[in-house]
This record gives sequence, C-alpha cells and structure tokens, in this order.
Amino acid sequence: MRPQEIVDQPGSSAAAEAGILSIDLSAIIANYRLVQAKAPSTRVGAVVKADAYGLGARTIAPVLAGAGCRDFFVAHLAEALELVSGLPESARLYVLNGLAPGMESLCADAGIVPVLNTLEQAREWQAYAAAAGRKLPAVLQVDTGMSRLGLGADELETLLRQPGFLDWVAVRVVMSHLACADMPDSPANAEQVRRFAEMASQLPEAEQSLANSAAVLGMSDCVGNLVRPGLLLYGIDPLSPATAGLHPAITLDARVIQVRSVQAGVGVGYDHDYVTPSPRRLATLSVGYADGWPRALGGKGAVWINDVCLPLVGRVSMDTCVADVTDIPAGCIQPGDKVELIGPHQSVSELAALLETAPHAILTGLGNRFERRFTGHALPQA
Ligand SMILES: *Cc1c(COP(=O)(O)O)cnc(C)c1O
Repeated sequence: MRPQEIVDQPGSSAAAEAGILSIDLSAIIANYRLVQAKAPSTRVGAVVKADAYGLGARTIAPVLAGAGCRDFFVAHLAEALELVSGLPESARLYVLNGLAPGMESLCADAGIVPVLNTLEQAREWQAYAAAAGRKLPAVLQVDTGMSRLGLGADELETLLRQPGFLDWVAVRVVMSHLACADMPDSPANAEQVRRFAEMASQLPEAEQSLANSAAVLGMSDCVGNLVRPGLLLYGIDPLSPATAGLHPAITLDARVIQVRSVQAGVGVGYDHDYVTPSPRRLATLSVGYADGWPRALGGKGAVWINDVCLPLVGRVSMDTCVADVTDIPAGCIQPGDKVELIGPHQSVSELAALLETAPHAILTGLGNRFERRFTGHALPQA
C-alpha cells in the first residue's frame, strides 16, 4: 500500500462492526522526530514487531521510512519478509528473536539481518556465509543481565576466538536489552550499562544499541548509536507519570448495539455477576474479550461518550460488554452511537495501569475485528 492511498478513508464499512482503531500517521512521525530530539546523537530505529504492536506494520514502516527511519526491528523472519518490499533498499530489517534453524538462505537472500543470540546461531551464520562465499551482516546480541536472549561474556569470548567468524560475519551492531528500564532508578540499569560497555568494547567496529522507549526517556545518556523505541512511536509513554509530551496516535471506538431500561434487582451478563441496585439504563457494546477488550475490565473499567464516563457492569463477554448509561438522558443514546474505549479520556497506559499489565499487552491484544483506519498527512513516496 503506498502512503498516498492510506489517508482519511471516510465512511463506514462492514469491517468496522466491532469498532474502529484509528491510527494517526502524522502523530507517529511527530513522535519519531520527538525521539530523535531526545536522543540527538543516535539513530532512531523503529520497533515494528507484532505488526507494529497490532497497528499495521505494512503501513507504518514505509511511512516511517519516508520520514527518514532506516532501521526496523521485528521479532520473526516472517515479519521481516512481509515488510521488505515496502521499504527502500537502504533500510535494514533486524530479526530480534534470532536465526531459526534452517532459515539462513531465506534470510540472506532477502537481505534481512539476523540478530545472533547464541553461539550456535553465530556458527550457522558464519558457515552459511563461508559456503556462499560472501560476508554477511549481523547484529550480535549480548546478555547483560536480563537472562533472556544473547551471548554471555564467556560465550562472547569464545565467539571472538572462533577462527574466521569476523572474516565471514560483519557485525554491524552489538545490542543488549534492559530488564528494568521502566524503573529508571533501579541500580540494575547502571550495572547493565557497565557490562554492555565492557562487552561491546570487544567489537570496536560495531555500532551499539541498548535503549528501548523507557530507556530513551529515563536514561540521561542514551548509550550507543541506535535506539529502539516501539511504544514511544505509537504515542504511549512507558513511564508514570508521563513526561515525554508525545502525540497521541490511536483512538479505539466501539458501537452501541442495543439499549434497554431495567428495574432494580435485575442480573446483568454471565453469572449475574452484577445485579442492578436501582432502575438503570444499559447499553450493550460491540466489543468483547475476543477483540482483546480485556475480560478483567468487567465491573472495573469504563468507556466514554463525549465527556460522560460510563462504567462497565457485569462480565465482559466474548463479543459484547455492557455499560451503564443511566447518566445519559433517555433518547440521547441509541444503537449505532460511537463509544470511546481508547482516546482522550482513557489512554492505553491508564488501561494498562488499571489492569496491572503492560501497555504493550493491551495494544498487541487488540483483535482483527477492529477496522484499522489510518489518518494523517500523505508523505512523498520514499
Ligand atoms: C520490544 C523491544 C523493544 C521496544 O520496546 P518498547 O518498550 O516498545 O520501546 C526494544 N528492544 C527489544 C529487544 C525489544 O524486544
């Protein structure tokens, strides 16, 4: 899809039956520039794994490329293969989860750069390059204290002593990931930075990449040459209270599909988890947990119409949930009306805090039954 075609699609469609997830591409670009301003001495990569956190990587990655971004991170090779044709030749796609067994030729032929996370992966990439007779690029991940992905200090030493590794593998970037970046005061951060400096110094030719969104905001000195924000680009501040001054990039609306008035003492939803304490007016909404509208919001969350907060009552079902709309005058609400789930009154961060989960989990959970509708300025083609 070319950037010119994705702007302001008006009208409704059957795909919008559950609701509409609107994504403001101008805001995403503004956030990209804001990250660049916060980390002026580094390149800003874009983390577009999991379909750009469920927002639509095939649209968003080319738009970011149009704004100058050249480094894109995904988790799986399949995700990279989806994006490669939409990006300029000068762009680089990195596969964070590493080089899966047998994927060497697919990866190399598409010009995708694997993140080597284990000695085994490094050896396979070296062997493939040697057999193909061409030096191949890679990112090398080192584990500095998250115990998730990457080589430990001993393994790095082993690798660098391995004959031929640096002859066949061009290590473009050494990267690591912070376990506690969302807790800027944690001593674990300084310790990881120290270990990273030590390990990265053994590959002086390579660039260095350490910071995710929280680290871009929370660390006074953004270590390295390449930062890796995801959340920030999508307008979500990982720190609380929010400090970044981001441009909100998404709104999520559902629809009212039925309105009823009920007497006191009436059970609502599965297991009659809620019983009306007095006569109430109730609206059934077009979203449920199958849409990633969390089941845990039942009896706890709220939605909005204009400035009126409407509590969710009873359990969230698979395809519906029920809001108490008694505060909206009779006749002022009817099937088809739009309800704000995420927007000016309720951010992804607030929802995540309410549910004690990560904003990433809320975003990536939003399902395929929402229509993704892109808005914002058209950009010249990259
Ligand atoms: C997902 C991920 C990021 C981006 O994290 P945000 O919190 O969205 O900025 C950066 N680096 C790695 C290794 C990741 O897995």
